[in-house]
Parts: sequence; structure tokens; C-alpha cells
Amino acid sequence: MSVTIDPGEAKEAMRAYTQKKGVLAFGVVDVDLVEKIAPPGYGPRDIFPRAKSVISIGVGGGTQGAWAADARTLAYIGDTETAAYKAAYGLAFFIEKKYQKRAIFCPPDMDPEKGARTPMQSLKLHAELAGIGARSMAGDILLHPEFGMMYYASVFTEMELPPDAPMAENPCPHPSCVKLYEKSGQTPCMRFCPVDCLSGSVDENGKLAEMHYDSHACAAMSQQYEAIPNVLLDMMDAKDPIERGMAVHSPENQMIWYKLSIGAGELLSLCYECMRVCPITQSSVMATAVARKGGMRQKVMEAEAQALAEQGASVGPKS
Ligand code: SF4
Ligand code: SF4
Repeated sequence: MSVTIDPGEAKEAMRAYTQKKGVLAFGVVDVDLVEKIAPPGYGPRDIFPRAKSVISIGVGGGTQGAWAADARTLAYIGDTETAAYKAAYGLAFFIEKKYQKRAIFCPPDMDPEKGARTPMQSLKLHAELAGIGARSMAGDILLHPEFGMMYYASVFTEMELPPDAPMAENPCPHPSCVKLYEKSGQTPCMRFCPVDCLSGSVDENGKLAEMHYDSHACAAMSQQYEAIPNVLLDMMDAKDPIERGMAVHSPENQMIWYKLSIGAGELLSLCYECMRVCPITQSSVMATAVARKGGMRQKVMEAEAQALAEQGASVGPKS
């Protein structure tokens, strides 16, 4: 059955759908733009040749309470990426059901041929081009002026949708970070990273000039799947059963087996200290109860108003 689709209305219906699923930010990129920037072999069409639009969505990170919890607790509860993936999965089905156009949930996973540090697609690139995040001083974590640090997911579809533009202004560094940088040569994220993996500079206009990120140091601190090969090597190199037993059962390694058994999220967590001190993330809708009350309620009301306005919209059988 063929359907007549108004791309602008369809985009707003998708935005409303995702907002009802808890998504804070929604943006669209023309797939040709992503193809120009993504490394060869890692553009949307490499995994979905029919792609015409990339939809990027962002969900909020930790609650205000999570940011006030201790580091061990935050490592378990600060991570909301699965909520973003769930909403994106639903959106792909929504597109196919409502518009009869193919769509896929973009895998947020690593390239099986390249190892654990080469993603199949850059979800950050999608979000940046869709205007729902900008590269920060904190290891390229994307920040949004209203929503702070978010978790992102993408959907590719063969539908042509009106694209959005990248943010005109990068909210990072925050004015208070510029002041600290002028006094001490460091922004808060640099200063409080426990393994000193962040460095960079702010120019005379208070803009981010340069950023260096030691991803190995950060990963060793926070990406526990990186530790598993070393545990296996320790087990194989053990000189006797006692040493081998320690390699398997030491308290630190028991935690890795525990996290493996309950799911991947906690193995991929940040240590979060750079975001715990980031004024943009700490004043975001999720992290501020007052803003959340107004912001989220407002967004749900807008989504509902949009859904009502769509009733009887132009999507329907052509003949
Ligand atoms: S997640 Fe932790 S280790 Fe990584 S950059 Fe942030 S503060 Fe540093
Ligand atoms: S603390 Fe946040 S806003 Fe400040 S420089 Fe770091 S990432 Fe940017």
C-alpha cells in the first residue's frame, strides 16, 4: 500500500513518539552529510545502503540524586544508554508501521573485525550533526546546553526527512570553567579526572581551542571489558593453584564476573568524575529537580498536543 507522506509532519510525529518514550533531544541529519565526514567504510550506507536520513536521539544521564551519590553507586546508576537504545528500537518499528518505509536501529556496537575500540558507526557524529550535542573538553563527551550529558542512539531510514543543523555555539566551556582555566590553567573536568587523561586549552575569547584525551587511561579506569584479557593472562601465567585462584577470585575480578552476569551496561560505564564537576551537566534538566519538573512536564504536554494535532493528518492511503 502506498502512502502520501509529508516529511515535516512525519518528522514531528517521530519527535513526539520519542518524547513519550523519555527522549529529551531529537535531530535529523541528511545521510550524504554523514557520508562525507565518516571514515571510509563507516558511513550509514555501509551498513544500510538504502539510508536517506539519520535520526539521532538523546536521553538524559543521571538524576540529581545519582550525581550526589558516591563513586561506586554512580558507576551503577549513572548510565542510561539502554533507555536510548530501547527508544530507538521502538522508533524504527514506528517508522515502518506508520509510513511503510524501511528503518533500522543503528548498532551501537564495535566492529567485529577491528576490536573493542572501533565502533561500527559514530553515534556521536550523528548527534553532533543533528544539532543535539557539541564536543566538550571532557574527552569529546557531547554536551547540550539544556540537557547536559546525554546517551545517544541512532535510527537509519530510507525516508527523506528535513535535516537539522549542528549547534551554532558550543556550550563548552561554561563561563565558570573559563574563569577557573584563567586562574589555574585547568577546567573542572581536567582538574578532577582521577587519572589525568584530559588536557587542552581555552582561547582568549573563552572558546575551546584544543582538547587532548588519553582514551587508554580513561578506558583502563572505566571500561572494564578492557581488563578481562589481562585477567585471563594472569590466570594462564599463574605459577601455582593459589596464584591462579587469586587471578579468578580476587575481589576486584569477582566484580568483573558479577557485572558480566548481570549485563553489559556496568562494564561500559564512565567513572563520571569529569561530569560530576561539569557545570553544564550539573545544571541540566535531569540533574536539577526544579528544571526537570518544568522541562519534562512541558515536553510531555508538547508531545501530547502534537499527537492531537496529527489526528486526521495527511498520512493515509493514496488510493
Ligand atoms: S570518565 Fe573518568 S577517567 Fe574518563 S575522562 Fe572522565 S574523569 Fe577521566
Ligand atoms: S567542566 Fe564541562 S563545561 Fe567545563 S570545560 Fe569541562 S566539559 Fe566543558
